[in-house]
Amino acid sequence: MKYLLIPVTLLIIHTGCSTTKPVHPTLQATLWVQNSVEYDALTTMAYQSAEQHLKDALEDENWSAELTQQGKDISSLPPVIVLDIDETVLDNSPFQARMIRHNSDYDPVAWEEWVAEAQADAVPGAVAFTQKAAEMGITVIYLSNRTADSETATRENLAALGFPLSGATDVVLLKGEKEDWTSAKTARRAYVANNFRILMLFGDDFNDFLPAKKITEARRNELLSEHRSYFGERWFILPNPVYGSWNDAMFNFERGLSDEQKQVLIEEHLHPKQ
Ligand SMILES: [Mg+2]
Repeated sequence: MKYLLIPVTLLIIHTGCSTTKPVHPTLQATLWVQNSVEYDALTTMAYQSAEQHLKDALEDENWSAELTQQGKDISSLPPVIVLDIDETVLDNSPFQARMIRHNSDYDPVAWEEWVAEAQADAVPGAVAFTQKAAEMGITVIYLSNRTADSETATRENLAALGFPLSGATDVVLLKGEKEDWTSAKTARRAYVANNFRILMLFGDDFNDFLPAKKITEARRNELLSEHRSYFGERWFILPNPVYGSWNDAMFNFERGLSDEQKQVLIEEHLHPKQ
């Protein structure tokens, strides 16, 4: 979990009288994740839809969700599915709620403390789906930008919720475990692809599916157009309105922007069609 936030002071609730009240930029999104049946239904839909394709994916020896495996003979490789962790299988909205309560931006120290608590709930649909995959003989691999130091707590959290954790291979691949295992995830997907046939990819961010680190919004849209057919069959995306590379791309991946510079970009990204 790592993202830029627009300053708290930028967003104002107009109360209808002369006073205004500042509101945290992620308040509405977090309320939606934590309270709406629509969020629950969407994540359930993603996992139930994936389950409907799982048998075909397993039986077709050339089926792969990984772009670098297309056109290669991968029939002898054992099958896996690869899932991101945060906002894909674990719901960290309580951490976000704490940030809102404290009226603070993302804090990496507070984040590591939350991870160490190991008390995230499961994203709806994820446990049943991964258990089904494991029953079918498919290894479940978790590929996350949580740091290598958090592996014990992360495994504890996943195990307590009933997520499959195969003992035969390292199935929790975290950032920094190896020198080239960066946040881009590309090297780790390549590592998995060398040893396994990747049936499906799951994530809440474009970077969970293809190399999309720090690319422009225009390029993101091009890549989406080129790969639309993967979604709903081999790639399954979970809703995350709170943070992500979409937000970083909106601010051109710049972390030193002034409030005024951010406000200009926010205005440019509102589309009232007037
Ligand atoms: Mg994620």
